[in-house]
Amino acid sequence: MENIQNYTREELAKWLEDKGSRSFRAGQIFKWIYLKQAQNFDEMTDLGKELRGLLTKNFYLSGLDLEDKQVSADTTEKYLFRLADGHHIETVLIPEKDHFTLCVSTQVGCAMNCQFCLTAKGGFKRNLTVAEIISQVRDARFFLVQKKIDPLKLSNIVFMGMGEPLANYDNLIKSLQIILDTDYGMKFAARRVTVSTSGLIPKIVQLGLDTDVNLAVSLNAVDDKTRSQLMPINDRYPIEDLLAACQKFTMKPRNKITFEYILIKGINDSREDALKLVKLLSPIRAKVNLIPFNEHEESNFKRPGSKQILSFLQILLDNDMTAMTRKSKGADISAACGQLKAKSEAVNQRD
Ligand code: SAH
Repeated sequence: MENIQNYTREELAKWLEDKGSRSFRAGQIFKWIYLKQAQNFDEMTDLGKELRGLLTKNFYLSGLDLEDKQVSADTTEKYLFRLADGHHIETVLIPEKDHFTLCVSTQVGCAMNCQFCLTAKGGFKRNLTVAEIISQVRDARFFLVQKKIDPLKLSNIVFMGMGEPLANYDNLIKSLQIILDTDYGMKFAARRVTVSTSGLIPKIVQLGLDTDVNLAVSLNAVDDKTRSQLMPINDRYPIEDLLAACQKFTMKPRNKITFEYILIKGINDSREDALKLVKLLSPIRAKVNLIPFNEHEESNFKRPGSKQILSFLQILLDNDMTAMTRKSKGADISAACGQLKAKSEAVNQRD
C-alpha cells in the first residue's frame, strides 16, 4: 500500500491507464485530494464504485500525525509532525497581512552542517518523500478549513524549513508539480513559491531550467574564508561560482533572487562586509534579506546590536540595493529561522 500523495498527476494517470482505467480520472482524483480536502476515497463520488475500490485496494490517503502544535504571541503556528518511521519534522504557518505563508521542511535533519544552524546539530536522517512534503501543505490548509478560513489564503510557500531542498531534488520537483498545478492541484502561483538553498550550484541551474519558482540563497558571508567557516558547503561551491550560477538563474524573466544574510556579531557585520556585499551583488538582480542571528543554546554566536544592524542595512540602501531586515516571527516558540530542530528527535537521539 502506498500513499497516493507520492504520485504526480502524470504518474497517477499512467498508473490508471495501466489498470485499464482512463487517464483523465487522475485530474478528478487530484481535485478531491488537493482542492476538496477529501479524507478518503469513498468521498470521491464522481468516480464510480469500481475505481474507488481499485484505489482503496492499492493506496491510502492520510495526512501527517500532528504530535504537537505551538502558537506564538504573534499567532505564528509551529507544527511538530511525527512520521510513520518515528522521525519528526517541523512546519511553520506564518500569518501575513492578507494571506498565510508556510515554511516547509524537505528533509529529516540536514547534512550541510552550517555552524550557526540548530537543525544541523542533529545531523542528517533522511529525505522526505513527496507525500511527506505535500502533506505539510495539505494539512496546513486543512487546519485553516477547520478554523473556517479559506484554505487558498495559504498562498505562499517558502522551502526554508528543515533540510536542504536541493539535496532532495527529485522529490522537491515532484512536489512542486503538485503545488503549482493550477488546474487540478494546489493552485500556488510560481511567483509565490520560494526555494531556499545553501548553494548547491548544479541544482540551482537545474531548478532554473525546470521551474519558474523564486530562488533564495543563504549567502551569509562575503569572502570564502568566512563563508567556509560558517558553511562547509562553500569549500565545494565557493562564492564566485555560486554567484555566476545565480546570474544564470535570472536569465529567464523572473523575480529577483533573495540573498539571505545572517548578521552575526563580529563575524560578518562590519561596514567593510556591507560594502563588499554591495559589490558582489551589483551584477545580479538581487534583493537582500538580513536576518539578525537568532541565538540558541547550541551556539556561541551573538546577534549584533540593533544600531549595528541598522547601519549595515543603511549601507545597502545607500548603494541602491533592495534590502530589508527580516522580522523573524514565532521567536518565542523557536519557530524562527534556523531554530527548527524537532525537539523530540534530539531527545530520541540522546536516549
Ligand atoms: N538549507 C536551506 C533551507 C533552510 S533556510 C538554506 O540554507 O537556505 C533557513 C534559513 O535560516 C537560512 O537562510 C539560514 O541561513 C537561516 N538560519 C539558520 N540558522 C539561523 C539562525 N540561528 N539565525 C538566523 N538565521 C538562521
